[in-house]
Amino acid sequence: MSATATVGAGGTAAAAGLLSCHSCGLLSRARPERARCPRCAAALHLRKPDSLARTTALLLASCILYVPANALPIMTLHKLGAGTPNTILSGVEHLIEAGLWSLAAIVFFASIAVPVLKILGIGYLAWSVRRGSRWRPRDRTRLYRVVESIGRWSMIDVFVISILVALVELGELATIETGPAATAFCGVVVLTMFAAASFDPRLVWDAMENQG
Ligand SMILES: [Zn+2]
Repeated sequence: MSATATVGAGGTAAAAGLLSCHSCGLLSRARPERARCPRCAAALHLRKPDSLARTTALLLASCILYVPANALPIMTLHKLGAGTPNTILSGVEHLIEAGLWSLAAIVFFASIAVPVLKILGIGYLAWSVRRGSRWRPRDRTRLYRVVESIGRWSMIDVFVISILVALVELGELATIETGPAATAFCGVVVLTMFAAASFDPRLVWDAMENQG
């Protein structure tokens, strides 16, 4: 097949008039009309539609939600009638005070560090594609793979908080109430997952094609 030879020679499948199915991976010929995959009938796109705009919008929304997720109390601990609201950070401080270093590290890493790293990673990728960067495309593709694979485990962040709640409850005569930050935090997790999913890593390589 001649198209295969063109792709092998260093061009992209898109330049050879071929596109792959997002769902089943089947490679088929690009047609001007809105095409469907001949094998699984999913809608075919040369690149994810409006990838950069969607990624940027979802990232901005997650940045906005990140503020209440950390500033507002994630849970309120009622002990003998008195309630103490805790943010994620003050929860980490309490864990350190209680000598639970490893748990404090897990909560800090999963709930504060990982969302920031995800937002920075996807933000950098979107920014570099927007300005047509040709700097280290292979490393940037790797960065995308890392961010996306972290995304699969994002719900662990929420899970860690429920473990924290359960731990605080153990041994004490206390009740726990989740605060408004929990909703915002779930929003950050879901939005960063969608932002990573809507980014099309092939855009990183399109800049190499257009200018080279
Ligand atoms: Zn398909």
